[in-house]
Amino acid sequence: SRAPILGRLKSAGIPVFSELEVALSFCKAREVIAVTGTNGKTTTTALTAAVFKAARRRVHALGNIGTPLSQCVRAVRPGDVLVLEVSSYQLEDSRFLRPAAAAILNITSDHIDHHGSMAAYMAAKARVFRRMDRSGVCVLNASDPLVVGLSRGCGARKLFFSLRPTEGSCAWFEGGKLRVQLPGDKKPRSLSAPRLPGEHNIENAMAATLLALSRKVDLKAVERAFKSFQGVEHRLEDCPKAKGLFCINDSKATNVDSTLVALKSLQDRAGKILLILGGLAKPGGFAALKPLVASTVKAVLTIGSAAAKIEEDLAGAAHVFPCETLDQAVSVALRIGVPGETLLLSPACASMDQFKDYEHRGRTFKELLRKRP
Ligand code: ADP
Repeated sequence: SRAPILGRLKSAGIPVFSELEVALSFCKAREVIAVTGTNGKTTTTALTAAVFKAARRRVHALGNIGTPLSQCVRAVRPGDVLVLEVSSYQLEDSRFLRPAAAAILNITSDHIDHHGSMAAYMAAKARVFRRMDRSGVCVLNASDPLVVGLSRGCGARKLFFSLRPTEGSCAWFEGGKLRVQLPGDKKPRSLSAPRLPGEHNIENAMAATLLALSRKVDLKAVERAFKSFQGVEHRLEDCPKAKGLFCINDSKATNVDSTLVALKSLQDRAGKILLILGGLAKPGGFAALKPLVASTVKAVLTIGSAAAKIEEDLAGAAHVFPCETLDQAVSVALRIGVPGETLLLSPACASMDQFKDYEHRGRTFKELLRKRP
């Protein structure tokens, strides 16, 4: 972290340990599974934990997903599985972390402001496998060139996944099914993907599958878990219809990449999208959204301090309604939307200019919808 106090400690040669590592050192469980990446960490962590649960293992999903490990140290027993969502912030100060299995889902340029450079961000991610050797397994996205680049420095056994069947991949998507073939398997096995929207969730499911299989979980348990998995709140979360509009809460989309993912997942729907964008802008602007906005979005409703920048960047792609607040944006959407269209909150921005955090923003959205006829 860049807090001045930490900089001073480090330059004085005083060791700084991450919360995660301090907690782990007090922890009895030795089966640690770490999930990192720019996007998809929480969903993959939740899926992986669900799979271990379906295999009747005692499992804890902790870390960045919501509950710090240090809060649960005393509840963890030997033999429990810890599925840890680890952010680059947590990895930065981790020196001893050695998971039994780890996954790096993808790497894009979020959080550069904190880490200072893309190289530093990538170096933080690589810390997840730094201490791993052939006794551990690292699950990696074969379709992500930055992840593939990083994997060259990885000493663990590597299991790659990719949406399309690719040379060397152990998991891929084909004929509407997930296929898995671990090194040594004679032929691929198939299973159904969880009922979650979008190809990105198929990637998350593949990562969870490989993590579980690498720890000797039965494929049947993976399938059982996927069947009942309902998704995670604020990630393309289906909400009850309002005035005939399908409503989706994707408040967790705090960057442009996530909003692109959301639009891609919804582009085959019959009705057009009313898209609520805005909040506190991250560097890079919104122009990357332009092509998909032009093809899928009927109107953009802007909120928060990024509004002017959004309007400028998306000029000509869709009609933009400056709404200022979420309340106002929902009102406008319900006025201009027609049944069969989709109201999507996927703001591509941080929330802190108007909300406590993205969860507060998502809950507010759902409350506003509930209050309308
Ligand atoms: P994280 O914990 O890394 O922020 P989440 O599971 O909370 O990830 O998902 C956050 C958002 O990121 C989702 O709303 C979705 O738009 C996008 N996303 C999820 N999984 C992926 C993925 N595998 N690749 C790209 N984007 C993803």
